[in-house]
Amino acid sequence: MATTTTKPESKPPHIALFPCAGMGHLIPFLRLAAMLDSRGCTVTFITVQPTVTAAESDHLSDFFTLYPHIRRLEFQLLPYKKSKFTNEDPFFIQMESICSSVHVLYPLLQSLSPSLSAIIADLPVTSRIIHLASDLSISIYILTTTSARFFSVMNHLPQLADNNNNTRCNNGHIEIPGLGPMDVSNIPPAMLNPDHFFAVGITSNVSSLSKVNGILINTFTSFEPEAIDALKNNSGIAPILPIGPFECFNTPKAPNNLEWLDEQRPESVLFISFGSRTALSKDQITELANGLEKSRCKFLWALKGSKVDKEDKEKIENILGKSFIDRTMNQGKVVKEWVNQEQILAHPSVGGFLSHCGWNSVIEAAKLGVPILAWPQHGDQKVNAEVVENGGLGTWIRDWGWGTEKMVDSNEIAEKIKEFMVGGNLRVRAKEMKVKAQEAREINGSSEGLLRRMLESLKNKE
Ligand code: UDP
Ligand code: UDP
Repeated sequence: MATTTTKPESKPPHIALFPCAGMGHLIPFLRLAAMLDSRGCTVTFITVQPTVTAAESDHLSDFFTLYPHIRRLEFQLLPYKKSKFTNEDPFFIQMESICSSVHVLYPLLQSLSPSLSAIIADLPVTSRIIHLASDLSISIYILTTTSARFFSVMNHLPQLADNNNNTRCNNGHIEIPGLGPMDVSNIPPAMLNPDHFFAVGITSNVSSLSKVNGILINTFTSFEPEAIDALKNNSGIAPILPIGPFECFNTPKAPNNLEWLDEQRPESVLFISFGSRTALSKDQITELANGLEKSRCKFLWALKGSKVDKEDKEKIENILGKSFIDRTMNQGKVVKEWVNQEQILAHPSVGGFLSHCGWNSVIEAAKLGVPILAWPQHGDQKVNAEVVENGGLGTWIRDWGWGTEKMVDSNEIAEKIKEFMVGGNLRVRAKEMKVKAQEAREINGSSEGLLRRMLESLKNKE
């Protein structure tokens, strides 16, 4: 008689998530934590203390109220010692401070029960955590919070320098395998300066990527087919796992400004935001305000007066002038507090998004089918704007340059906004992208399939 052997029940994997500084990093990590939780994993979320912004600490406390069974592992940073690479950007100072405190985290991770199966860490800490794999016998995954396209550029950075440490460039273009020639002016200048801390950090982190178990990207195959293919064909790095767009999680807070949006015509409103840590110059804010007024388009503007929210105290009236607010009372609305961007983009009255093209904003617009008028300001944003254009999700006026490069005049802004808000083919293509994003998230979709297989492999390792 045949004996039946019962396979022991495999335990759900225990995964720790480790984000770096700023909302652009925290939000995708929180979303991923909620997704892992809803797929049966045990989740520990590492919270860096203190945070740079009030938005980070507010979001963390809301999140743990909503998900009481997700464990919070407080990671207190050591007193910060300025290094030779530091500039004055509080987010980079925080990033550096996190990197130099990482060793404090080891004993905390080691003492977790049940023991960890894997850690998903932010790209900027890669080189610092790589030996966790052998020290703690766990899998290491890296989540990069940018596009597959910009990630390809970062990944190729060490090969871009010639023997004299200058960038190999051909007629103003660089070659990234699989992506064709890319305009060198789209690469953040700091990245092309091998002595700059930004380039130094990226080079050291991407050099460790062959040793990790996988690289997670909040994107999906039909949005960035070229870049994802090129990365998959690169035998020098770990498997690429495009598992986006990440699902959003419910927030208990009252939604902002939705009543005002409810009163507007379908697809009539332009939403304007430059993300969580970019403030336009005072003069550029004035030109944008005048451009909006001249365009006569309906608008909802999430205004920022300074980089860090705790310092952003000036009243809207003082920045824009009371007469602007009075004159545009029936045309638009300006807010200065944190808004729930996903809810706004999902509202039927919103027909366009003037965006700096931070990657989270781009992927949210793709997921919700809202066309983008791209105005990249710094960092990865021009390369992300290329993704927007290539994917048919929006349009980018290259002449506007980087944020601080030139003053864009109100008449020019008004003209482009009017053209953009006509919608037409762009809106059709954005809606097609929304369908593709939904398909990627379906049970057998490209992104969901990869995520499930990754979790299965972790379960079977137990
Ligand atoms: N965001 C938001 N409300 C705000 C400002 C930003 O919900 O008032 C969110 C936005 O939806 C996105 C993130 O914050 O998820 C910003 O990330 P992104 O990569 O777009 O830009 P960054 O802030 O990193 O420049
Ligand atoms: N980055 C890194 N090491 C550094 C600095 C940056 O790995 O020392 C990566 C990081 O993953 C980030 C990307 O470079 O997402 C682009 O940086 P940027 O400042 O444009 O974006 P943000 O920090 O707003 O995501």
